[in-house]
Amino acid sequence: MMTIDKLRCPQNHVCPAIRVCPVEAITQEGNGLPVIDQDKCVECGNCIRFCPMGAIQNK
Ligand code: SF4
Repeated sequence: MMTIDKLRCPQNHVCPAIRVCPVEAITQEGNGLPVIDQDKCVECGNCIRFCPMGAIQNK
């Protein structure tokens, strides 16, 4: 299951992983902590590679 570590995500920018998610599973309000819709996520791993902070993990 993809998770976003709120301690690693500075929550001060638009999440770059949003645009690389093939199923639009990641949403974000403003610059807040992104949310992954686990029902949509296919665990492709794209978002892990595009998060510069290493905040997205599969665990
Ligand atoms: S693992 Fe893939 S499908 Fe799941 S949230 Fe990340 S980019 Fe989207």
